[in-house]
Amino acid sequence: MKPLIAGNWKMNGLSASIAEIQSLIEKLSGSAPEDRDVLICPPATLVAHFAKEFSDEAIQFGGQDCHENEGGAHTGDISAEMLADVGAGYVIVGHSERRADHGETDAAVNAKAQAVLRAGLTPIICVGETEAERKAGEAETVVGAQLKGSLPSTESELVVAYEPVWAIGTGLTPTLEDIEDMHGFIRAKTPTGTRLLYGGSVKPGNAKDILSIDNVNGALVGGASLKADDFYPIVMAAPGGR
Ligand code: PEP
Repeated sequence: MKPLIAGNWKMNGLSASIAEIQSLIEKLSGSAPEDRDVLICPPATLVAHFAKEFSDEAIQFGGQDCHENEGGAHTGDISAEMLADVGAGYVIVGHSERRADHGETDAAVNAKAQAVLRAGLTPIICVGETEAERKAGEAETVVGAQLKGSLPSTESELVVAYEPVWAIGTGLTPTLEDIEDMHGFIRAKTPTGTRLLYGGSVKPGNAKDILSIDNVNGALVGGASLKADDFYPIVMAAPGGR
């Protein structure tokens, strides 16, 4: 399975941040890693700009969220069709920050994922337990319920990102064994061919170990995706398409 290394810029990035994309492309063009997919999900304000500027490059762009509807009276929201229109290839849905800050339920995430598919794009559906849930031994129960509720029934391509909430932006990561166990669990509950990303404090120093784990088909990277100097070694740490 071809690995996918995806960067989630969250609410970071201005027009000038295009310099980081240029730098990343320069680094990538030296090594032409055609055996992996590279994706950056900048703020919605930058998707059109980046996708147009770099349409011929080996890097794709995506959204961080979308509304479930195609259009209408939803002030401040954007639709998957709008992201598709400006050249996005993927949309992250159900990130734990959206679930926490905007009260997004599994049903809402499922509707968004369906909207992404409707627009002809690939959803990256995020799941993951909190620290309290892991400590209580409920990680698999929680993730299992999120998968059941958030994944649309489809034959189209899906990407699932396992992102333990307590590992996001904290510098903490599960043990390699815990990641392997959870990815094995998720593999058994997702359609054949689903790429499973790990997310949560992936850095240049731990990327190779994490990306070599069975059933880890890439990474969703937050903080370390903002700088080409950090993101490039993570992209290159993925084993080639397998
Ligand atoms: C994320 O927000 O998806 C994420 C994984 O963040 P970080 O890499 O900063 O932990």
